[in-house]
Amino acid sequence: MKSTGKQQTAGDQCAKCGACTAVCPVYQVTGRESHTARGRLHLLSRLTNPVSSVYGKIVSACLLCGACLDACPRKIDTLTPLIRAREQLPLAARYRFLEKFVARKTLASPRLLGGLASLRQKLLQHLPKTSGLWLKLALLPEDYAPEEAQPALPAGQPGGAPPVVSYFSGCLARYLSPDIGAATDFLTRWVTGSPLLIPGEQTCCGLASFAGGSREEARDLARKNIAAFAGHALPILTSCASCYSHLRSYPVLLADDPHWRSKAEDFAGRVREFSRFFLEAGLAPPASPVTAEQGDPAGIFYHDPCHLRFSPEKIMGQPRRLLANIMGAPPLELAGGPHCCGQGGLFHLAHPQLSQQILAVPMAQLLELSASHVVTTCSGCLLQWQQGLRQTEFSGRVCHMAVLLAGIIPQKGG
Ligand code: SF4
Ligand code: SF4
Repeated sequence: MKSTGKQQTAGDQCAKCGACTAVCPVYQVTGRESHTARGRLHLLSRLTNPVSSVYGKIVSACLLCGACLDACPRKIDTLTPLIRAREQLPLAARYRFLEKFVARKTLASPRLLGGLASLRQKLLQHLPKTSGLWLKLALLPEDYAPEEAQPALPAGQPGGAPPVVSYFSGCLARYLSPDIGAATDFLTRWVTGSPLLIPGEQTCCGLASFAGGSREEARDLARKNIAAFAGHALPILTSCASCYSHLRSYPVLLADDPHWRSKAEDFAGRVREFSRFFLEAGLAPPASPVTAEQGDPAGIFYHDPCHLRFSPEKIMGQPRRLLANIMGAPPLELAGGPHCCGQGGLFHLAHPQLSQQILAVPMAQLLELSASHVVTTCSGCLLQWQQGLRQTEFSGRVCHMAVLLAGIIPQKGG
């Protein structure tokens, strides 16, 4: 056959089989073909004007959950064309939503996060009540003080054996919920006998910048994090699934940078996911039975972050085994199986109603379960479930798995 000389796009490779539509959480609530990987690949190969509002809507209404990538029988990279398309959006379109701009800039400059808390009242007066950022800011404790915006310090006594594990906290554990960092440190001391090494120079993982189409900003943040963890070869534990996924992608992000490429590969090879790390480290069950205050052993629901469920390693069994080991019973499961919570990084800010519609599906099933705890290991999913369940009759607790486990594992020698 004579070559046309035209390069094949992802859209050209698509068999239009529809396997991706069946698993897409956005399509499941909207029923719109343009919200699927199949529809988007088709449209992106034909739309050429990034300034048009149609283009902006098509590229923004995706959670980047990876379900389509996982389901595609042709293994078409459904996400890269979308990210590239977001990079083409003009600045005015990217910053169209105040909340999206503020959120991305804040995550890129964590110092701003403390300031954002103090600005909350002012911002809330001007933001529409349907804004996802309003919901996010509403999650901050009333008495949150900017000076709390410090790295989570290791719990317990200083000194002792030198660290054998370092910690990438992510923005949630570092600024908004230092209890997650403290709990992770406590569990690490339990299995290694040493506190975590927490480099103060670390910054946002850059996922928000990357997903928002600001590739250079994401690359800059990646270099800063690689530099922050240079100078030692310790494993880099993170308690956030989204951070884990993005930190592991640094070699791809910096593939064309000869100075940073090999450093990025070394860095990514050292990153450890929370559940796998503590399962392999042999985090032990408590010496005495778990009490009702600590958590009903048969009442724990674990939410799978999409960044783990659809990761190449498909990390789904390890968190369940870890919970079963410690609690003495397997976690509860939704009738329909694991389901996206609709948070999607900045998706819930740009599309708050869609985000809530997606969460409503697993939330309705959760409320049928009599769960005492909802636990997960992703900062975004955690905020989404906390915000969603606050508006229901749910009387249990929504917390990071580290916080649940640290409340159960007894103090050594205590
Ligand atoms: S990444 Fe998720 S939300 Fe986006 S098209 Fe694929 S399945 Fe749908
Ligand atoms: S699953 Fe893959 S081949 Fe099938 S329609 Fe979706 S993108 Fe195309």
